[in-house]
Amino acid sequence: MQVKEIIAQAQSSGKARFSFELLPPLKGDGTDKVFEAIDTLRDYNPAFIHVTFHRELVKSTPMPDGTIERHIDRHRPGTVGISAAIKARYGIDTVPHLICGGHSKYDIEDALIDMDFLGLDTLMALRGDAMKGEPHFVPHPQGHAYAVDLVRQISAMNRGEFLDPEEGVSHHSNFCIGVAGYPEKHGDSPSAEEDLLRLKEKVDAGADYIITQMFFDNGKFFDFVERCRKVGINVPIIPGIKPLSTLKHLEVLPRIFWCHLPEELRRRAAVCTSNADMRKFGVEWASEQSAELIAAGIPVIHYYSMGRTDNVAQIVQNVF
Ligand code: FAD
Repeated sequence: MQVKEIIAQAQSSGKARFSFELLPPLKGDGTDKVFEAIDTLRDYNPAFIHVTFHRELVKSTPMPDGTIERHIDRHRPGTVGISAAIKARYGIDTVPHLICGGHSKYDIEDALIDMDFLGLDTLMALRGDAMKGEPHFVPHPQGHAYAVDLVRQISAMNRGEFLDPEEGVSHHSNFCIGVAGYPEKHGDSPSAEEDLLRLKEKVDAGADYIITQMFFDNGKFFDFVERCRKVGINVPIIPGIKPLSTLKHLEVLPRIFWCHLPEELRRRAAVCTSNADMRKFGVEWASEQSAELIAAGIPVIHYYSMGRTDNVAQIVQNVF
């Protein structure tokens, strides 16, 4: 089933569900850790699973003749493969992320064809961030500058429009498309209003649902949804919740993800003196956030797990 249908079903049944995000394995690692993370949650009946896509790095390797070889390296390749493996093993709808960064539109077309053949019929269309060492996001010379262009390419393929079509072929995809939304504004955007209009462009181009950046104050999410509806964004908006799990998160997450930590959270987190304390508090705060979102009628809550799901399991036990 596609994610838009899963959300619609949860909405009409009145029973909230949860989904979560995983990372593909590090290069050289097998599938065990990813499967363990899913095993922890499978009995709670997750609605769907997202798998992140990781940007390449440029690596410089000194050669025996004294020259430097520069080549592309990816620490976590295999997003499409692991997504298909998860779907085949667990029967849970799995959503690979796809980014513009580092890809030509021709690479993207080939990746979409693989996903279509593998039965991965929902995907998350993203721009991606700047490559390490670059001050800003730089698109591939034959690629897309913004996620909206990727959404347009996917929508075109859904209509049977390929970049260089072969004669006499008629198959076309039927992808359901997720995109990212930012309750507290994307870091590059000059204003919340402009960011919202850019989000609307993605929806107008064919996005079927939105997953939000993490937020720790539900008020920011409720306000965002209201602003979206006012400008005519009518697709489902799924809140993205990150359970705090290390002391460093208090400093790192607001900086990297442009989200604010409410005073009450900082006050209550101040008693944590170890990562174990913070992991426990993270479950408590995320459970409170989730309970309030469910009470407000949100059909699906999406959890950012970073690959360890014991804390997500505790939250699900607490509130679903
Ligand atoms: P866009 O929608 O393209 O927006 C990027 C910026 O450009 C925004 O400031 C927007 O306002 C502006 N903008 C958009 N269109 C235009 C336009 N036409 N003209 C001018 N400005 C414009 N990153 C990864 O690398 N891999 C992942 O797997 C991944 N998963 C994510 C999942 C979620 C749920 C979220 C919220 C983020 C994820 N990210 C991931 C991070 C994401 O790639 C970054 O936040 C990135 O900086 C923006 O991506 P986007 O798709 O929102 O970009």
